[in-house]
Amino acid sequence: MTDNGINGEAREDSEAKVLANVPDGLFIGGQWRAAENGATLQVRDPATGEVVKEIADASVADGGAALDAACAAAADWAATPARERGELLRRVFDLLTARADDFALLMTIEMGKPLAEARGEVTYGAEFLRWFSEEAPRIAGRYGANPEGTGRVVVTQHPVGPCYLITPWNFPLAMATRKIAPALAAGCTVVVKPAELTPLTTLAFVALLEEAGLPVGVVNVLTTSTSGAVSEPIIRDPRLRKLSFTGSTPVGQALLRQAADGVLRTSMELGGNAPFVVFDDADLDKAVAGAMAAKFRNIGQACTAANRFLVHRSVVAEFTARVTAKVRELRVGRGTQDGVAIGPLIDDRAVAKATQLVEDAVSRGATLHTGGSAIEGPGTFFAPTVVGDVRPGSEILREEIFGPVLAVVPFDTEDEAVRLANDTEYGLVSYVYTERLERGQRMIERLETGMMGLNVGVVSNAAAPFGGWKFSGLGREGGAEGIHEYLQTKYTLTANPFA
Ligand code: NAP
Repeated sequence: MTDNGINGEAREDSEAKVLANVPDGLFIGGQWRAAENGATLQVRDPATGEVVKEIADASVADGGAALDAACAAAADWAATPARERGELLRRVFDLLTARADDFALLMTIEMGKPLAEARGEVTYGAEFLRWFSEEAPRIAGRYGANPEGTGRVVVTQHPVGPCYLITPWNFPLAMATRKIAPALAAGCTVVVKPAELTPLTTLAFVALLEEAGLPVGVVNVLTTSTSGAVSEPIIRDPRLRKLSFTGSTPVGQALLRQAADGVLRTSMELGGNAPFVVFDDADLDKAVAGAMAAKFRNIGQACTAANRFLVHRSVVAEFTARVTAKVRELRVGRGTQDGVAIGPLIDDRAVAKATQLVEDAVSRGATLHTGGSAIEGPGTFFAPTVVGDVRPGSEILREEIFGPVLAVVPFDTEDEAVRLANDTEYGLVSYVYTERLERGQRMIERLETGMMGLNVGVVSNAAAPFGGWKFSGLGREGGAEGIHEYLQTKYTLTANPFA
């Protein structure tokens, strides 16, 4: 049984206070306001199923108004000195850090992750504000003679213009700051659309931006239950110059098609199917600890979550036994409770998917070591699960699990490990455990992913370029690369001033 700690009655005072402080309107042109048609949508706590807040539900007309506001503010914000833009971000970093506990609690309420992990996300999400506050003044160009000596080449960087930023529900704060911070640092104005399931963190974050002195129209927020209908006219509006999306690959593909007509700049952070490879020369203590982090962080609901554990046959029994013992110790419950490591999945569909993937694997011959099914009661909980000896062709090896299910596949040779690891249309991240330097180097060259953890189970860092290959996306967020997603290059040829 889960220990949800829900009595359906008095919500903790601190929770009520945090929820009461979240604005319930759309933020357009510096004003909080209701949807033009008065519609609202309900936000629920996935651990209880209870409605925790009702907020504005934007229409197509509200979407148009938000883009109008972003366009009206674009020229002034682009002309604002980079240092000032950076200082705004830095003030928000300070405010967010000071209110880390409130933001963590809010994320746990609307998304379900354990409070300690929500605090970790505040640290990670805030870091994008600090990082890009420092990158803003470093936007640079170059100057040099052309090879013929007849002229001078001047290369300058310019904000791309108004941006539309669409974020998913699984990291409600970090996915927003990872886009808003570089956009603002580059001098772009934005319309942000969080996921319907977890819009509250973005609303609270934008209230913080406002408190830090955000100029009117630079950031606008749309919360909506009709994301497709509201987004398409924005994406097709010729004034929009950039679309940045984090979410599933099928939605990303559909948005790329919409963006094609306007030849929009796009960044796509899409799905993953990460291999976690444990070689026979791995340090198993490190591999087991890394596996627990790579699989069970965020209740398994991360694009970077290890999806397929490829383990050398000589160590597979020991590895499986050790992770199974650890998985059995994971406490399931509402994320606000002490010691809880596994909160609820985001909704019924996620539970049904995890159930179906495990059933399919077992029906094809996999061994169920622990867990394997949904947990009865309020909320959408799924028991942390280990399945071993997963057979080729099982759906769990092809699909993103997005739940606390660890699937193990044995292999015999390095070549086989590489073939299995690369046998997916995705290419976001891979994890490799080996104590041999040359083997680790070979994996860097052979694995088809945009990121890799070498004896490390979590790779995300604001100072590094996050992003995928193949169906996992286009573009990079974070690092020195992140700001370039929001800049466009101009080359000017001038005459040789000495000729
Ligand atoms: P999703 O269904 O693709 O939704 C992502 C966002 O797109 C949400 O804001 C959603 O809003 C919106 N959306 C859905 N359909 C849309 C449409 N037709 N037009 C415009 N917007 C639309 O994905 P999700 O289930 O929220 O998130 C999980 C996925 O995100 C996973 O595949 C995961 O791997 C991926 N992800 C990737 C990264 C990365 O950096 N690569 C990071 C985190 C998550 P509504 O939900 O309100 O409709």
